[in-house]
Amino acid sequence: MGLSNRPVCKMCRREGTKLYLKSDRCDTAKCSLERRKYIPGQHGPVSRIKLSEYGIRLREKQKMKRFFNISEAQSRRYYDIASNMHGDTGEEMLQLMERRLDNVIFRCGLSDTRKQSRLLVNHGHFLVNGKKVDIPAYLVKVNDILSIRERSTKSFESLIIKNEKKQSVTWIESDSKANKYKLVRVPSREEMDVPVNVQFIVEYYSR
Ligand code: SF4
Repeated sequence: MGLSNRPVCKMCRREGTKLYLKSDRCDTAKCSLERRKYIPGQHGPVSRIKLSEYGIRLREKQKMKRFFNISEAQSRRYYDIASNMHGDTGEEMLQLMERRLDNVIFRCGLSDTRKQSRLLVNHGHFLVNGKKVDIPAYLVKVNDILSIRERSTKSFESLIIKNEKKQSVTWIESDSKANKYKLVRVPSREEMDVPVNVQFIVEYYSR
């Protein structure tokens, strides 16, 4: 079964942390992790698995992949790129993932989940600097202007109203009335609410 078809709440329970894969439900008492704080499976409630040092690092890497809804090959590629950059490898890696077009669309409140973002991008609903981009992994640059394609704007109205109430990120300037969303800066580690120990992920890939 592919990653995208798995019951998503099980992924959060497996990782022991909220990965926010179900939109509205995640911040309510209906969240599966709030109700069942143990790993899925027959022995979940009594499970006392002690992970090895390797296992701990593997789990952090899996958690990150699930959070951003990316494949192993993509995750490895971001590590390879980040390790050739000048800054902190872990932070650079997360920044690359945050700059993915599907993630930025999600951060703008134009989708309920990253999974939905990917589909919307694939369907060609968005423009970057006035040009259609339908590649979810496209890396948005500072000062790029994102917008919804003219003929798609109507179908985003209710989504925008709903998500405007949610807290938005400070590194994107959103003007939904003007249909303009601008990446004003690359977020720092503190601004990226990614629930992983990124140093463990760097250690996993560099072993
Ligand atoms: Fe994860 Fe959301 Fe399901 Fe809670 S409701 S377990 S945060 S996907």
